[in-house]
Amino acid sequence: MPPHHYRVPYPQRGSLLGDEELGALAEVLKSDVSLSGGVYRETFERRFAELVGSRHAVSVTSGTVALALAINLLGLRAGDEVIATPQTYKATIQPLLDLPVTVRFCDVDPNTLNADPDSVEALITERTRAILIVHYGGLPAEMDRIMRIARAHDIVVVEDCAHALGSVYHGRRPGSLADIGCFSFHASKNITTLGEGGMVTVDDDAWRERLDRMRSNESDAVFVPAAQRFGGSDTARPWMLHAGNSYTHDCVEIHYSGTNATLAEPSAAVGIAQLRRLDQLVARRREIAGRISDVLRRYPFVRLITEPKGVVSAYHLYTFFVDPDAGIDRDALVERLAQLGVQLQLRYFPLHLLPEWRARGHRLGECPTAERMWFRQQVNLPCQPSLSDQQVNHMLGALDAVLTEASSRDSAMARP
Ligand SMILES: *Cc1c(COP(=O)(O)O)cnc(C)c1O
Repeated sequence: MPPHHYRVPYPQRGSLLGDEELGALAEVLKSDVSLSGGVYRETFERRFAELVGSRHAVSVTSGTVALALAINLLGLRAGDEVIATPQTYKATIQPLLDLPVTVRFCDVDPNTLNADPDSVEALITERTRAILIVHYGGLPAEMDRIMRIARAHDIVVVEDCAHALGSVYHGRRPGSLADIGCFSFHASKNITTLGEGGMVTVDDDAWRERLDRMRSNESDAVFVPAAQRFGGSDTARPWMLHAGNSYTHDCVEIHYSGTNATLAEPSAAVGIAQLRRLDQLVARRREIAGRISDVLRRYPFVRLITEPKGVVSAYHLYTFFVDPDAGIDRDALVERLAQLGVQLQLRYFPLHLLPEWRARGHRLGECPTAERMWFRQQVNLPCQPSLSDQQVNHMLGALDAVLTEASSRDSAMARP
């Protein structure tokens, strides 16, 4: 029977919020700045761009919106192809559902669950326009190889950095490793802007301008004075009805809908405070991750994800793999942990197997590694900074007990 009460419930928050954030909120609310103004938003964006190492950062209301705007920038047309990783949250590719493009799912590296560059390369055709990848769990994908492949074919790369704020890749940061970076500040992420928020990072000035416009109801707006648009008469007023049932109107001209996805000032102010404690938050995640690894290393049928030299994971997720060939039943292991009071959430069901993508012709067998890892091997443990030492200790004890049980069952089965 599943326990009704977990000793270690899955943490609902990925970040910590305290006096600094309360202070930032009080400052905004007591001031007389417009709550949708831009003073805090611009500071947040500037600091974010500096941290990540991109020329521009444009804040928006969620990671999902960040990805939608990024995909809009790609200007995809009918018949275009996009290569995407299947091992990510559905929002990475969701806007593609509305476009007449073909998605080709690459397979993942069984050691990291990140997009496998060889698999990406094998899917490239003359029609490939973009590659969408994620830094799974916070471990940066093999961006040197992916960018070399993309540059050779003139393909745009979007990195979904929702897990990777605080990660490092050979001295650089996710968000500056490809053409467009997308971040989420949802409550569950490495930092949060009051529960929802996101950021797009780009180097290109024209893209920055388009992002600014798309998020503020201006889309591709161009200001055209009436005199120029209608020719002739220079009107003294912004709008005028003329003889012969004609009129003039000074206004911006748009061709696409755009949206309002402006991050509110209180959220941006909290974002600034959260950025200040990012190092501390990541350090706590890494400390918990290190303790989990110390337990797991004792078991030969467990495989850890290791950080290559020069690469630092922010450990948004702690992920390891069990070996089904050694008789380890992943689902039974997760159930046992739940019985011992540790609630897990496995992330993510491979996207190509979701109904919306199956309806577009995708099928089981398309990404064999991603499928094998999801159904048989991968386990995600919580490592959020909000876990108390007591909760971490309880989780490690339960993990040790469950793996010891599994290994004795395994050796019992192996006996003649
Ligand atoms: C959370 C997340 C998103 C979506 O971000 P929201 O802010 O929740 O809209 C996109 N991609 C990945 C990988 C995520 O984890």
